[in-house]
Amino acid sequence: MQIAPFLFGATVPPAKNARGSTAAQLLRHQCARSTAMTNPPERLPSPFATGLACRCPRCGEGPLFSGFLKVVSRCESCGLDLTWAAQTEGPAVFIILIVGFVIVGAAAIVEGLFHPPPFVHLLLWLPSVVILALALMRPLKATMVALQFHNRAGEGRLDG
Ligand SMILES: [Zn+2]
Repeated sequence: MQIAPFLFGATVPPAKNARGSTAAQLLRHQCARSTAMTNPPERLPSPFATGLACRCPRCGEGPLFSGFLKVVSRCESCGLDLTWAAQTEGPAVFIILIVGFVIVGAAAIVEGLFHPPPFVHLLLWLPSVVILALALMRPLKATMVALQFHNRAGEGRLDG
Protein backbone atom coordinates (compact mmCIF):
# COMPACT_ATOMS: atom_id res chain seq x y z
CA MET A 1 0.00 0.00 0.00
CA GLN A 2 1.41 3.39 -1.03
CA ILE A 3 0.82 6.43 1.11
CA ALA A 4 0.79 9.86 -0.57
CA PRO A 5 4.37 11.20 -0.17
CA PHE A 6 3.29 14.85 0.21
CA LEU A 7 1.73 13.98 3.55
CA PHE A 8 5.16 13.23 5.00
CA GLY A 9 7.15 15.95 3.29
CA ALA A 10 8.87 13.58 0.90
CA THR A 11 10.01 15.02 -2.39
CA VAL A 12 8.61 13.51 -5.51
CA PRO A 13 11.36 12.49 -7.91
CA PRO A 14 11.17 14.43 -11.20
CA ALA A 15 9.76 12.59 -14.19
CA LYS A 16 12.44 11.23 -16.48
CA ASN A 17 12.40 10.48 -20.16
CA ALA A 18 13.51 7.26 -21.82
CA ARG A 19 17.21 8.21 -21.56
CA GLY A 20 16.92 9.00 -17.86
CA SER A 21 17.21 12.79 -18.25
CA THR A 22 14.91 15.11 -16.37
CA ALA A 23 13.16 17.99 -18.10
CA ALA A 24 15.46 20.48 -16.34
CA GLN A 25 18.55 18.64 -17.58
CA LEU A 26 17.21 18.60 -21.13
CA LEU A 27 16.38 22.32 -20.97
CA ARG A 28 19.88 23.16 -19.69
CA HIS A 29 21.41 21.04 -22.47
CA GLN A 30 19.27 22.71 -25.14
CA CYS A 31 20.09 26.20 -23.86
CA ALA A 32 23.82 25.46 -23.78
CA ARG A 33 23.67 24.05 -27.28
CA SER A 34 21.67 26.94 -28.74
CA THR A 35 24.03 29.44 -27.12
CA ALA A 36 26.96 27.59 -28.67
CA MET A 37 25.24 27.66 -32.06
CA THR A 38 24.45 31.38 -32.03
CA ASN A 39 27.60 32.65 -30.36
CA PRO A 40 30.60 31.22 -32.19
CA PRO A 41 33.96 31.57 -30.46
CA GLU A 42 35.93 34.72 -31.21
CA ARG A 43 38.71 32.89 -33.02
CA LEU A 44 37.92 29.88 -35.11
CA PRO A 45 40.73 27.39 -35.63
CA SER A 46 42.47 27.50 -39.00
CA PRO A 47 40.43 25.63 -41.63
CA PHE A 48 43.62 24.05 -42.90
CA ALA A 49 44.68 22.83 -39.45
CA THR A 50 41.24 21.37 -38.70
CA GLY A 51 41.07 19.97 -42.24
CA LEU A 52 44.39 18.17 -42.02
CA ALA A 53 43.45 16.83 -38.58
CA CYS A 54 39.94 15.86 -39.88
CA ARG A 55 38.33 17.70 -36.93
CA CYS A 56 35.26 19.87 -36.47
CA PRO A 57 35.68 23.22 -38.27
CA ARG A 58 34.33 25.25 -35.32
CA CYS A 59 35.97 23.75 -32.22
CA GLY A 60 38.80 21.71 -33.75
CA GLU A 61 38.10 18.99 -31.20
CA GLY A 62 35.37 16.60 -32.31
CA PRO A 63 36.09 14.13 -35.12
CA LEU A 64 34.59 15.16 -38.47
CA PHE A 65 34.14 11.68 -39.92
CA SER A 66 32.23 8.68 -38.61
CA GLY A 67 33.38 6.46 -41.49
CA PHE A 68 36.08 6.80 -44.12
CA LEU A 69 34.31 9.75 -45.77
CA LYS A 70 30.99 9.91 -43.92
CA VAL A 71 30.65 13.25 -42.15
CA VAL A 72 29.07 13.15 -38.69
CA SER A 73 25.70 14.87 -38.44
CA ARG A 74 26.68 16.77 -35.28
CA CYS A 75 30.01 17.54 -33.64
CA GLU A 76 30.51 15.48 -30.47
CA SER A 77 32.39 18.28 -28.79
CA CYS A 78 30.55 21.54 -29.59
CA GLY A 79 27.27 20.33 -31.12
CA LEU A 80 27.78 22.04 -34.50
CA ASP A 81 25.21 20.80 -37.01
CA LEU A 82 27.17 19.27 -39.91
CA THR A 83 24.33 17.77 -41.94
CA TRP A 84 24.96 20.39 -44.65
CA ALA A 85 28.45 18.95 -45.21
CA ALA A 86 27.32 15.42 -46.08
CA GLN A 87 27.21 16.05 -49.84
CA THR A 88 30.55 17.82 -50.22
CA GLU A 89 32.04 16.28 -53.36
CA GLY A 90 34.36 19.11 -54.41
CA PRO A 91 37.59 17.42 -53.25
CA ALA A 92 37.39 14.92 -56.15
CA VAL A 93 38.40 17.63 -58.60
CA PHE A 94 41.39 18.68 -56.51
CA ILE A 95 42.45 15.08 -55.99
CA ILE A 96 42.37 14.43 -59.74
CA LEU A 97 44.43 17.56 -60.42
CA ILE A 98 46.96 17.01 -57.62
CA VAL A 99 47.43 13.27 -58.17
CA GLY A 100 47.66 13.77 -61.95
CA PHE A 101 50.28 16.48 -61.54
CA VAL A 102 52.39 14.49 -59.07
CA ILE A 103 52.21 11.12 -60.83
CA VAL A 104 52.69 12.40 -64.38
CA GLY A 105 55.58 14.54 -63.19
CA ALA A 106 57.19 11.64 -61.34
CA ALA A 107 56.68 9.30 -64.31
CA ALA A 108 58.28 11.85 -66.64
CA ILE A 109 61.28 12.25 -64.34
CA VAL A 110 61.75 8.48 -63.95
CA GLU A 111 61.43 7.98 -67.71
CA GLY A 112 63.91 10.78 -68.38
CA LEU A 113 66.48 9.46 -65.91
CA PHE A 114 66.20 5.66 -66.19
CA HIS A 115 64.21 4.78 -69.34
CA PRO A 116 62.56 1.79 -67.62
CA PRO A 117 60.40 -0.68 -69.61
CA PRO A 118 56.63 0.08 -69.65
CA PHE A 119 55.74 -2.58 -67.06
CA VAL A 120 57.91 -0.81 -64.49
CA HIS A 121 55.88 2.35 -65.01
CA LEU A 122 52.72 0.29 -64.61
CA LEU A 123 53.99 -1.28 -61.38
CA LEU A 124 55.14 2.06 -60.00
CA TRP A 125 52.34 4.42 -60.88
CA LEU A 126 49.13 2.42 -60.69
CA PRO A 127 49.47 1.68 -56.96
CA SER A 128 50.84 5.18 -56.40
CA VAL A 129 47.72 6.73 -57.92
CA VAL A 130 45.43 4.64 -55.72
CA ILE A 131 47.41 5.22 -52.51
CA LEU A 132 47.84 8.96 -53.08
CA ALA A 133 44.17 9.46 -54.00
CA LEU A 134 42.98 7.56 -50.92
CA ALA A 135 45.44 9.39 -48.68
CA LEU A 136 44.25 12.80 -49.87
CA MET A 137 40.50 12.17 -49.70
CA ARG A 138 39.89 12.68 -45.99
CA PRO A 139 42.10 15.73 -45.37
CA LEU A 140 40.92 17.45 -48.56
CA LYS A 141 37.26 16.81 -47.82
CA ALA A 142 37.74 17.99 -44.23
CA THR A 143 39.53 21.12 -45.44
CA MET A 144 36.76 21.86 -47.90
CA VAL A 145 34.11 21.45 -45.20
CA ALA A 146 36.12 23.76 -42.91
CA LEU A 147 36.51 26.37 -45.67
CA GLN A 148 32.78 26.21 -46.40
CA PHE A 149 32.06 26.75 -42.71
CA HIS A 150 34.53 29.63 -42.37
CA ASN A 151 33.29 31.41 -45.49
CA ARG A 152 29.63 30.57 -44.81
CA ALA A 153 29.44 29.05 -48.27
CA GLY A 154 26.22 27.45 -49.40
CA GLU A 155 24.17 26.72 -52.44
CA GLY A 156 22.97 29.75 -54.39
CA ARG A 157 19.39 30.80 -53.79
CA LEU A 158 17.09 33.55 -54.95
CA ASP A 159 15.92 36.05 -52.33
CA GLY A 160 12.40 37.42 -52.29
ZN1 LIG B 1 32.92 21.01 -32.81
